[in-house]
Amino acid sequence: MDIHTVPFGQHLKEAEVFHGHLCGGIVSGVRMALRGLKEIGIRDPKGEDRKNLIVFVEIDRCATDAITSVTGCRPGKRSMKIKDYGKMAATFINLESGRAVRLASKGPKDSEQAGSLEDAIKAASDEDLFWIQHGSVPLGAGDLPGRPVRSVPCAHCGESVMDMRDLCVNGESLCQPCAEGQSYFIPGRQA
Ligand SMILES: [Zn+2]
Ligand SMILES: [Zn+2]
Repeated sequence: MDIHTVPFGQHLKEAEVFHGHLCGGIVSGVRMALRGLKEIGIRDPKGEDRKNLIVFVEIDRCATDAITSVTGCRPGKRSMKIKDYGKMAATFINLESGRAVRLASKGPKDSEQAGSLEDAIKAASDEDLFWIQHGSVPLGAGDLPGRPVRSVPCAHCGESVMDMRDLCVNGESLCQPCAEGQSYFIPGRQA
């Protein structure tokens, strides 16, 4: 199925159901995903093209749900990578051709009131809404879907580290928290 032939309203409805509400981020994310896929020549991201697509998203907010809804890409399938930069931006990569395009939101204009944001986004052109840049994303074997390339125990904590995410420090394989000496998780302390 060619998703570019599906009416915009239907993509929007599906994204709204997936996300739980309709908001500016959903409208933006759907627009971003459709244009991104078009730029890299992907027509059927959930069917025929499903193994040829990886998406990098740069925020863990509404737009990411919209991109998941349109593309079918998910972290658990390794087809979606989250770079938590806090930016409403995403890069769509066609693994077959190597083509990649990054779309970044130009943000709402001052004249747009919050209440009319969805309508303003719908009315604007892609070029009004996004910076669109072609380029490439170097991917290693450890970044691709499929079986884990490697799994090694961390020499310090003993936990297994998959997909070449371990770091070699003084000849030892360490997980990232052990190598860096810090983690988001603080054991034994109540917040
Ligand atoms: Zn939202
Ligand atoms: Zn460790």
